[in-house]
Amino acid sequence: MTKKKNSSKKKQQKRHKFFLNPYTDCAFTKCPNCDIPTKVRKYPLVIHIEPRQLFLLNKKCKYCINCDLIIAKKQEIEAYIAMALGTKLSQNEYLVMGTVDRKDWREGNKGALEQHEIIERMYVFKDIWDFEVIPAGWYSAEE
Ligand SMILES: [Zn+2]
Repeated sequence: MTKKKNSSKKKQQKRHKFFLNPYTDCAFTKCPNCDIPTKVRKYPLVIHIEPRQLFLLNKKCKYCINCDLIIAKKQEIEAYIAMALGTKLSQNEYLVMGTVDRKDWREGNKGALEQHEIIERMYVFKDIWDFEVIPAGWYSAEE
């Protein structure tokens, strides 16, 4: 591969929307936005870990075709990070930034990619969504 020195900086590519699901008891088998059934798909996620580390995780997520929304369980992501790093992170110590193509994930996983190469190949999320779940029966108890 060759690189032109005078090429202008490539604009960051964007893909998908993302929701980090904090609810352990809600799997979002239906999209919280449009209510259609979600699919299960694996996505190679790029996770930034403070201060300067990138972590690639090929993870099963829920996906809404209609909204182009990826839903990943927060608890599961934190468990993977804890396993890989041997330490548990709090929520402000990491950020799920985007995805990479499967072939780039494979290379990155073998340690063949530098951090800046991962960043160049990464698709950042177009948007990060958040949903609040109101538990059923929350207000029905005793009047
Ligand atoms: Zn949807």
